[in-house]
Amino acid sequence: RMHLRKITTGSSNLDELLGGGVETKTITEFFGEFGSGKSQISHQLSVNVQLPADQGGLTEGDKIAKAVYIDTEGTFRWERIEQMARCLGMDPELVMENIYYMRAVNSDHQMAVVEELFELVPKENVKLVVVDSVTSHFRAEYPGRENLALRQQKLNKHLHQLGRLAEVFNVAVVITNQVMARPDVFYGDPTQAVGGHVLYHAPGVRVQLKKSRGNKRIARMVDAPHLPEGETVFAITECGIRD
Ligand code: ADP
Repeated sequence: RMHLRKITTGSSNLDELLGGGVETKTITEFFGEFGSGKSQISHQLSVNVQLPADQGGLTEGDKIAKAVYIDTEGTFRWERIEQMARCLGMDPELVMENIYYMRAVNSDHQMAVVEELFELVPKENVKLVVVDSVTSHFRAEYPGRENLALRQQKLNKHLHQLGRLAEVFNVAVVITNQVMARPDVFYGDPTQAVGGHVLYHAPGVRVQLKKSRGNKRIARMVDAPHLPEGETVFAITECGIRD
């Protein structure tokens, strides 16, 4: 696995779980219940990718590593980016300029947006592509067991597209996926798993997020071939993701 690069999450615990951070050439999925930290990690990575390499980002000299944020549920917040950037001593205006925000209104649009990235990503030195959340439109448009096969087929196509993007341009792809509080209970029935089961065979790294006490969250590595299974704790603070 040569030429792989890593983006820090802001938490050394979470970085360690990930084998040093979120990898390029890989799809990293963060899944968990509402409020478990999926969007916060996505925001933080969009800032952190812009850090110099010696600080855990992928910027080299004057060549700023940029982010694309595909928002499917309207949960992206510029103010949060501003706050996270300020905490890191970065220029908030510049950091915001280097995040390409895209709102995907349905699943076809979401796939069309990713198709366009094959031009934008190399041209603008994009090193991180976030899809938050990857499943929501597919779930809404193809509900229930009767649509499961079609939904799975479309999602697989989308994931394949994202995998290609990651591979071809040495980019980190981060996807989020909302599942119920105790997905282990529901995994037997894919219609209940709200997409969790559907992504099970996608390539890359899967991290389950769980709420803990206060601002603490638990991250658990799930079936990563090249990483040890394990759990760790991180926090969501005013400044963002920390230990
Ligand atoms: P989801 O997994 O649904 O995407 P989020 O990533 O949106 O969850 O996490 C939401 C949580 O992040 C909130 O419950 C709150 O605890 C924390 N959070 C969000 N913004 C801030 C902030 N500015 N300061 C501190 N904590 C925050």
